[in-house]
Amino acid sequence: MTATAEDIERAVAVLRAGGLVGLPTETVYGLGANAEDTAAVMRIFEMKGRPPSHPLIVHIAASDELDDWVEEVPRAARVLADRFWPGPLTLVLRRGRRVPLAATGGLETVAVRVPDHPVALALLSAFGGGITAPSANRFGSVSPTTANDVRVELGDGVGLVLDGGPCEVGVESTIVDVTGEVPAILRPGGVTREDLEAVLGYSVAVPSTSDVRVPGQHPSHYAPRARVVLVEPEKVVAEAEIARKEGYQVGVLLPPPLAGATVEAHAVVTLPDSPAAYAQGLYGFLRELDQQGCDLIVASLPAEEGLGLAIANRLLRAAGPRPPA
Ligand code: AMP
Ligand code: MG
Repeated sequence: MTATAEDIERAVAVLRAGGLVGLPTETVYGLGANAEDTAAVMRIFEMKGRPPSHPLIVHIAASDELDDWVEEVPRAARVLADRFWPGPLTLVLRRGRRVPLAATGGLETVAVRVPDHPVALALLSAFGGGITAPSANRFGSVSPTTANDVRVELGDGVGLVLDGGPCEVGVESTIVDVTGEVPAILRPGGVTREDLEAVLGYSVAVPSTSDVRVPGQHPSHYAPRARVVLVEPEKVVAEAEIARKEGYQVGVLLPPPLAGATVEAHAVVTLPDSPAAYAQGLYGFLRELDQQGCDLIVASLPAEEGLGLAIANRLLRAAGPRPPA
């Protein structure tokens, strides 16, 4: 059930008292704290099991509050904020004094965004300050896209989870560093590279997926319990069959062109045709395959254009090497 006005009031009280609140955004659910309360911010790292050197995103109610949180707002940042906020775009800027170092992982830059979700926006305006929030999952695992996912991930640790229904975008925000000469995408997400470039009128740097592909360089993140194996789309069915014969409980993310193909596997999700629907469903599909008891998931990368870039980035990270158990 969607959060009521009373739920929002309770959440404001929790934030003011230094507690943590699970909150919906259009990208994924966040685990929020008063951005200016160092002790509360440190509780986020504890609850997620996240290393304190990984910076968080500060969520604000409107773009006209941006100046309160950062040292300066370069022109490109203003242009992007005007066009994409509220929305799935995070801007990295020079840290304003109001932001504690705990929220930035010790960096002199801070990541800020205005989320596009009525519950998040209602909470931000009622609270009247910034809410720093990473995704509301255990560090490294699949991000939550429903209120129930948050409860499954964090258990009773988080006293209050505001329900805002399933997230519409389904993957995290695009993070753009605007502190340099030219804006650079640090993480692809809900706003596409093409949309950013259309507004800016020039190209932006993107982390090459080949960086992500280097084995050992990027430990797994956004990862289900099951191991994720990526193959060319036309090899998905054959790979699933091989893994099944090796004794795995195989889950398959079946590319749309293969819809209807016979697949010998424990569980099969036929992916939606539209990239927006794929992004929206991605984390739910991975959770579902985990829940069905799969221990290996066979998938392939979508074309790295539009939202496909963010989806490919998450799948590559999900398939990254696991820390020793
Ligand atoms: P999460 O909300 O869990 O996706 O985590 C926040 C993301 O924002 C992480 O990927 C961080 O590395 C990134 N981030 C936050 N602040 C900064 C910053 N100052 N510079 C670069 N990346 C940042
Ligand atoms: Mg996260």
